[in-house]
Amino acid sequence: MRKDLHSQSPESFRDSISTVDAEGKRVWLYPKKPSGRYYNARKWVAYILIAFFFVGPFIKINGQPFFMMNILERQFVIFGRLFVPQDFFVFVLIMIALIIFIVLFTVVYGRVWCGWTCPQTVFMEMVFRRIEYWIEGDANQKRKLDQAPWTQEKILKKGTKHTIFVIFSLAIANMVLGYIVGGDALVNMITSKPAENWPVFLAHIAFAGIFYFVFARFREQACTQVCPYGRLQGVFLDKDSIVISYDHVRGEPRGKLKKKKASSGCGGCGSSSAAVKPIVGRAKKPKVNPSPLPEIKKPDVEEVKAPVSEEKETVRKMTLEDVNPTVSTDQPLGDCIDCKLCVHVCPTGIDIRNGTQLECVNCTACIDACDEVMDKIDKPRGLIRFASANDIEKGKPFKFTARIKAYTAVLLILVGAISLALVKRGEVEVTVLRAPGMLYQKAENGDIRNLYTIQLVNKSNNSFDDLDVLLVDPEGKITIAGGDMQLKEGAHLDGAFFIDIAPENLDGMKNKITIKIMNGEEELDELTTNFLGPIKK
Ligand code: SF4
Ligand code: SF4
Repeated sequence: MRKDLHSQSPESFRDSISTVDAEGKRVWLYPKKPSGRYYNARKWVAYILIAFFFVGPFIKINGQPFFMMNILERQFVIFGRLFVPQDFFVFVLIMIALIIFIVLFTVVYGRVWCGWTCPQTVFMEMVFRRIEYWIEGDANQKRKLDQAPWTQEKILKKGTKHTIFVIFSLAIANMVLGYIVGGDALVNMITSKPAENWPVFLAHIAFAGIFYFVFARFREQACTQVCPYGRLQGVFLDKDSIVISYDHVRGEPRGKLKKKKASSGCGGCGSSSAAVKPIVGRAKKPKVNPSPLPEIKKPDVEEVKAPVSEEKETVRKMTLEDVNPTVSTDQPLGDCIDCKLCVHVCPTGIDIRNGTQLECVNCTACIDACDEVMDKIDKPRGLIRFASANDIEKGKPFKFTARIKAYTAVLLILVGAISLALVKRGEVEVTVLRAPGMLYQKAENGDIRNLYTIQLVNKSNNSFDDLDVLLVDPEGKITIAGGDMQLKEGAHLDGAFFIDIAPENLDGMKNKITIKIMNGEEELDELTTNFLGPIKK
């Protein structure tokens, strides 16, 4: 039960989402199976992304996973580089850059991410929905099956579908765990008994349950009611953003095209298109219409006058009157034949002819559907297409606006800052602090002694087995407490050491000293810290 504009009053026009009825209950959608060039392209993109998703946890770069978000052990690997909590500032920069990139991308290209690469859309439309079409059939067959009593056939179909859904949900949950704990740990977990790893096993079941619920029941509501990105479209998009748009200048006033004109093109539709052919299901030999114009289906509800400007207008804004016109027989028609195929294929249940809407995930199904119709009635494709509002209304091509330029500048600065941080980022993060709350001590030989703590974090895949701390300036001696220091890959080490400096090498109470962290002959880091000495008289 989709909301049709013809059943809406101006007061209620687009004031609610299409998947909720007047009582606030869910309207279950039965989108027609899409097909066409965009759908085929999306299938290939989805195949590649799904394949990558399933092999991702097992790809390694320099011995590290390609991507891992181990929240439990606070280890994050991006493109094979290990990030630890000490790298938090880099992580924040990456996140800020990512958000700005998303905003910039959305301002220019709309919701391409949603329709083509978002995991929700990819799995929903290219895995779960296709399984459903395969088992239960297209929209009408599925609707009939849902309404039918529980027969053996229905139990078999529903049982098979949900069993496959559960298997896919378990597989997806497995891979998500793989991205958290890493591919090797995942294999260990899969090959061991659940009882040996029951917290992970329970997490796996919980993830699988969530995925099953989302893909089997929640579906498009994840995009329309939960995802914050969709809700921000009103802020991101402007009249130059390229989104999936209905060309209302060309398409309106819409009307049913029932008969082919005997002599001329499109029956006075006002379009420059070629002659109108009968569409599917129409009699092969069209009768000659006594009227000079095609017969138009009138709206079911109160009729409003179509906008007819006093002066000839080349640009019209889309209004309720535009899409709910009184179509009189002496008014030229647009290219939309009001077949509603674009609505029937929409997985979020909207009518794109009402304009850009929150629910539109830019899946392109309506483009394919409408192109097919245009082919059948011999009109140019692209009545629904990727286009900006300015492109449709004013014929303005895409241009870089001041907003896009500003976003690009900020993005470039951030990318530069991140690159610098990554280049300057050493393999070992060293933190040296003077032991808090302690004054200096006097050694037996009269030297002044300070105690320091040292923390080393290994952010590489190498082990450091010959670690040492050297005093560079001033002259003095370092004694490491507890003997040799060793640092395994990805590990961290807490230690302590003393620094003894002769009083004549000190300037007074506060002294700056320089130390180096070495691994054998290799210098890992050089840093400056404070050394406390006696007040000089
Ligand atoms: S598919 Fe095209 S012709 Fe049919 S209703 Fe939608 S916009 Fe109009
Ligand atoms: S209107 Fe519907 S079918 Fe068209 S792109 Fe948006 S979500 Fe897809």
